[in-house]
This record gives sequence, C-alpha cells and structure tokens, in this order.
Amino acid sequence: MRAGLGGAAGLALAACSRSGDPARAAGPAPEPPASAEPLRPAAVPPADPTASALPTPAPTPPAASVPVASATAPRAQPVHRLDEIMPAAPANAVALTIDDGPDDWYTPQVLKLLDRYGVQATFCVIGIYAAAFPELVSRIANAGHTICHHSMTHQQPFNRLSAGRLAEEIERPMPILEKATGIRPLLFRPPGGAWSPQIAEAVAASELTPIDWSIDPKDWTKPGSPTIITRMLAATAGDIVLCHDGGGDRSQTVRALGTVIPTLLQRGLTFVPLSVR
Ligand SMILES: [Zn+2]
Repeated sequence: MRAGLGGAAGLALAACSRSGDPARAAGPAPEPPASAEPLRPAAVPPADPTASALPTPAPTPPAASVPVASATAPRAQPVHRLDEIMPAAPANAVALTIDDGPDDWYTPQVLKLLDRYGVQATFCVIGIYAAAFPELVSRIANAGHTICHHSMTHQQPFNRLSAGRLAEEIERPMPILEKATGIRPLLFRPPGGAWSPQIAEAVAASELTPIDWSIDPKDWTKPGSPTIITRMLAATAGDIVLCHDGGGDRSQTVRALGTVIPTLLQRGLTFVPLSVR
C-alpha cells in the first residue's frame, strides 16, 4: 500500500502543459497544503549558525569589490533544446526530464528503470514534496541524476502570481534542495512551462537557468502507454523530453519509459542529465 502525500496534503496538481491548454486553464490554482511550514519572507535570509561562533566578525568588503557579474542575465525564453544549455554534449545526446515528484510510489520505479539501463535523467522536483521525501531527493542526486527546481507548490498559472508569491515559490525550495543534495540548484522549470519577463528576472536573480522542453507526450493526461510511447519516440538528438513521475497516477508513464528508454538507446541515442557546466 502506498502512502502518497497528494491526498493528505490536499494539493491538486495540474501537471505541466503548454499555455492555453484547456486542462490547465480550467483548473483553479491549488492552495498551499496545510502541512506546509509557515512562509518565510523571501527577503530574510536564514540565520547563519556559524556567525555567532566567530570571535570577531569578518570585515565587510567594500561594495566596489563585490563581483557585479554574478547574476545570470535574464533569458527571453527558457532553454528548450539541449544545444542551448549543453553545446558540448555528444551529438547523439537526448535529455529526459521527469517532473512533479518526488513521489514515494512512482519515483522509485522510475529510478529502478533508469538504473537498469544505465541512464541518467533530470528530475524537476516540487518543493513541498522534496520537503516530505528528502531521502528520495538525496537518492536521485546520489544516482547521478540532476535535480531541477520546479517551484514550491506548483501554483498555476505561474506567470500570474504576484511578485511576492513568485519570490516565495522560487526561494523556499532552495535550502530544501541544497540540504538534500549538498548543492544549490542551478536549474529551474516553471510549472506548466509558464513564462513572463517577471519570472525571467526572478529566476536570473536566483542564478537559475530556466528549462523548457521540446518533446511533450502529455503523459499527465493519461492517454495510454502506447500513445505516450509513440509521442516520446518522436525524440531525436538534441531534444529535451518531458514526462512526469508525480502529481497523479503515473503508471502509464512508467510503463511507457520501459519501452521508450531501450528503444532510444537502440537507435543510438545517449541520455544526458542536464547541466549548466
Ligand atoms: Zn510540473
């Protein structure tokens, strides 16, 4: 028996889809779960426990010496193909991105499948679920997959949030993901692929690279594994492929991946986890 979080948290996730999709447009924005920790203002950084242990505070460098080129320049659009983020990737590379987890039932099944074929992917995880299953986030990262930040609560439409809510959605998962993986997240995928100049600025200010996709099988609509397989097998070298391991019943997706991964490997493609390095 599974012990999923979705029902308990009362969070109805609308999976990723393009702007204008009726399924996405019709759904109300989900409320944050009652179990979520109180919101912390984004402008207040967490206390540094080492600071009070210092006998004397380190001198503050003059403002002029602070690097000014540390922030990522806002992108007009998120990355949607591999060569836009990994120009040195092999010519036969394709990226598999798996959204809306971690899910304590489906994510381990996907991890097992990826391990069977020696394939690495990118998991776009939601903050509240990462907080609920941090050991699963650690397990994903330790297996060599990339963790991508996919907002705190998957609010949609994401590009219509207030500036304050947008800041919370981006800032709150950062320490959760960093604690679980040991590294600060570098990639961000907005829920629903929604985009706006405000999101671009907020993401760049957090030094995150925004990630889109080029192949969308719409697996979250549960069209049946054969349809998901057909749509995912449209992928060729350079594509970033979307699918989901959380946010609902993903058994069709898991079954589809069992065919899609070995078929793409047989076609001579190689899977790469997304990286900005
Ligand atoms: Zn999503």
